[in-house]
Amino acid sequence: MFDIVISGGTTVLASGPELADIAIVGERIAAIGAPGSLVDIGARRVIDAAEQIVIPGGIDPHVHCSWPIPMPGQPQPQLSGPPAQVSRAALHGGTTTLLDFAMWTPGERLGAAIERRQKEWAGACHCDYGFHIMLQGKIPPEILVELAEVVADGHASVKIFTTDITPSRRGRMIQFGDIWEILKVLARVGGIAAIHAEDNDIVMHMYEKLFREERTSFEHMAEVHNTLSEDLSFNRVIRLAASVERAALYMMHTSAATGVRAIAEARARGVPIYGETLHQYLLYSAEDYKRSGGQMYHTYPSLKFREDHEALWAATRHGAIQAIATDEICCPLKVKLQGRRIDDVTGGNAGVEPRVSLIYTETVGKRGHSLSEFVGLISTNAARILGLYPRKGVLAVGSDADLVLLDPRKARMLKAGDLHETDYTPWEGRSVAVWPSMTLLRGKVVVEDDTFYGQESDGQFIKRKVLDEIRSRPAL
Ligand SMILES: [Zn+2]
Repeated sequence: MFDIVISGGTTVLASGPELADIAIVGERIAAIGAPGSLVDIGARRVIDAAEQIVIPGGIDPHVHCSWPIPMPGQPQPQLSGPPAQVSRAALHGGTTTLLDFAMWTPGERLGAAIERRQKEWAGACHCDYGFHIMLQGKIPPEILVELAEVVADGHASVKIFTTDITPSRRGRMIQFGDIWEILKVLARVGGIAAIHAEDNDIVMHMYEKLFREERTSFEHMAEVHNTLSEDLSFNRVIRLAASVERAALYMMHTSAATGVRAIAEARARGVPIYGETLHQYLLYSAEDYKRSGGQMYHTYPSLKFREDHEALWAATRHGAIQAIATDEICCPLKVKLQGRRIDDVTGGNAGVEPRVSLIYTETVGKRGHSLSEFVGLISTNAARILGLYPRKGVLAVGSDADLVLLDPRKARMLKAGDLHETDYTPWEGRSVAVWPSMTLLRGKVVVEDDTFYGQESDGQFIKRKVLDEIRSRPAL
């Protein structure tokens, strides 16, 4: 007797899409069979998935909940939306796992930073979650020792900045020597580096230049956080990693054709490197900064240009880009529009809820991607690269029963008022070709026909381990 059988949907399995039944017992997938075959064995609930696409739960590998947002002219930052708010929206949109960050501050133990973050999330998140360790500034030797322990304990990825991003955020950047030492630790204990790569000299030079020329309005952002900076910085960090065996790289928010090329060339040489881009980098450009409320589309580094869109989209099919994330920083429109200059615009964005349906529409719907390629971009690849696989990111016997039913009959136009994030969406007025009719988290129906059944205690912290195959060569 099964608890649930999801029957007759176009089911995106590891081997590709086919009409299939999926049976769930407790929190796991218990069986996969031909349409109708598992219904006959018996189930407490049979869900008819005919006409629908059944996929593994989405994984957003890059979100920032309860994250300090600097407020111009105010001493205290405001916090972005908490895990409870963001995870609820995520489940509505078919994302069942979020990877956020535990930020280490110089002077404290790494364990203390993780404990603080765990406390904020435990019992306060509707979906499953994990943390990238975020290091910053000067890295003392004792932190490198502790890093080996926490990576082995399931925090398998470490966020590293090669830039301070803006002149007011001094202290984020890690010196290359320290990055080298971190890469050696990760290579030894089985982690992966998640890199925010920009050339700090170029970025800070451009801030100085534009301030001198009094061109400080945010629509010049792509001149500051520019394509040359991505080129120089990606290649520099790649050369460093290539000198350390099994130093794997996950390049966060790749925004430019230059970054795509650097990743592709490194992969051709066998470097274990993977690319993440953001949905706004694929679909908005620096031209959008000129629109009224153009800050709405921004996140750091910056929106780029048409040729960058083309390179990024091509890379979603040819290997340099494996994952599409949001860089979610959920905040009210008033906060998102508060900054007006190249150095004070709020980063991050809303989008965790429409991401899965939006990317389905833009890949399968408009660009001829296969269903497997789409599922790779929103779930499977992040699971494999960042160490959640095969528990997450795949419909397979023994995996967590995180499933989403995407229904073409629920195609809709996106409106902030229908979503569960905040009072705006950068995707206002966009049409999506599908929408989830149901989301299951570890066997529990948490959203059905837009009604929410989840609880803040449902989410679990998931320990991660990056497999050797991911770290020894470009495996996907
Ligand atoms: Zn981010």
